[in-house]
Amino acid sequence: MAREAYNPYTNVINTIKSAASVLGLEESDYAATMYPERELKVSFPVRMDNGTVKMFEGYRIQHSSSRGPCKGGIRFHQNVDENEVKALAAWMTFKCAVVGIPYGGAKGGVKVNPDELSCAELQRLTRRYTAMIAPLIGPEQDIPAPDVNTNGEVMGWIMDTYSMLKGHAVPGVVTGKPIDIGGSLGRGDATGRGVAIITREIMNKMNMDMKTSSVTIQGMGNVGSITAKYLSKMGMKVIAVSDVSCGIYNPKGLNIPKILDYLKTHGNLLKNYKDEGITYISNEELLELKTDVLIPAALENQITEDNANKINASLIVEAANGPTTSQADRILEERGITLIPDILANAGGVVVSYFEWAQNLQSLFWDEEEVNNRLSHVMVSAFNTVFNFQDEHKITYRNAAYCVALKKLVEAKKIRGIFP
Ligand code: NAD
Repeated sequence: MAREAYNPYTNVINTIKSAASVLGLEESDYAATMYPERELKVSFPVRMDNGTVKMFEGYRIQHSSSRGPCKGGIRFHQNVDENEVKALAAWMTFKCAVVGIPYGGAKGGVKVNPDELSCAELQRLTRRYTAMIAPLIGPEQDIPAPDVNTNGEVMGWIMDTYSMLKGHAVPGVVTGKPIDIGGSLGRGDATGRGVAIITREIMNKMNMDMKTSSVTIQGMGNVGSITAKYLSKMGMKVIAVSDVSCGIYNPKGLNIPKILDYLKTHGNLLKNYKDEGITYISNEELLELKTDVLIPAALENQITEDNANKINASLIVEAANGPTTSQADRILEERGITLIPDILANAGGVVVSYFEWAQNLQSLFWDEEEVNNRLSHVMVSAFNTVFNFQDEHKITYRNAAYCVALKKLVEAKKIRGIFP
């Protein structure tokens, strides 16, 4: 039988239904969480450096505003499509709910391979895309942030374009901005720091000693590299890392500070990195390595029914959004592999985005220690809530995290009622 094409939004629906069944909800109680509230598809021209004009397609999808303004990153990637953005938007809704910050969920994306554009072309693309989605975004409506292939510089262009359209500076329209234009200290590291905190908490519950455990990380971008930095600082042996160009492996442990320095000066790519004792491996091989902890931190759809039986880790912490399919989830559960889901594990970024937005709205500026302490408090408290729910109901952590979030979403909808 031919296998169905992968659709991440189907994953979302499966997960919501399974949480609803644990909570004993009627479909009418939670139906609204299965549909995005608003979807905008845009097509727009960008002038290339050689004078030609090229058309691009993008999206901004708002999944839910039940608990507050919509919130979610913007991705520039050649595989961006409607179902991917819909899924990413829904994951944001559940993520904000599980950590208890007053946001709904959204996501945006442009179908483009940014490596094929010059910096000036990328800036023109970002500004035009911002103008196209401007009717939907704003500090009280929908607040974008960085995601795959976007960063503080891109957020600065978005903030400037939106501010020009409004006629005054609007720093609260995006988070993940550079500090000089209203960004928050600690935002750059927040997602990876949060992943490391959650890894520490679950390892503690599983009686796994960080000092004697190995970890393998797929993806060495914003999230993967910072996760590697903090886990190695906590004493873990990082034995393998990878990116789109290759993977590197050393069973005795990689030199993470050296790798992070190398990435900074070599276009963020590991290919050509050299060090004693390393072997080059593919991303497929990396996922199947014998390791105590496996952290997918690249893209969705990495652990599937094709390789779930070959995963050789006791614990998976999802730093990427949606790296595991529903079919793989079932296989991992049967095999007794513990998995901490994306909506909890990688929520650190949106938590500090919330801090950034709150500082912008009040024209305040917190020091880094305050940001990090508050982040740690939110992450540990969300972890404990999910842990206790899981412990009480003997279900997977994904199921437990979705139950915690879905309860809050259903309650918010009930309190607000249905318009008109
Ligand atoms: P990034 O663009 O900074 O890094 C992506 C990394 O993945 C790069 O190292 C890239 O080379 C690698 N990669 C790309 N395709 C790959 C492939 N096919 N195989 C292996 N590696 C590949 O992006 P990021 O911000 O680090 O985001 C990574 C993941 O984390 C995404 O799923 C994103 O949605 C999620 N996330 C990001 C944030 C954030 O704050 N940036 C927050 C929460 C979740």
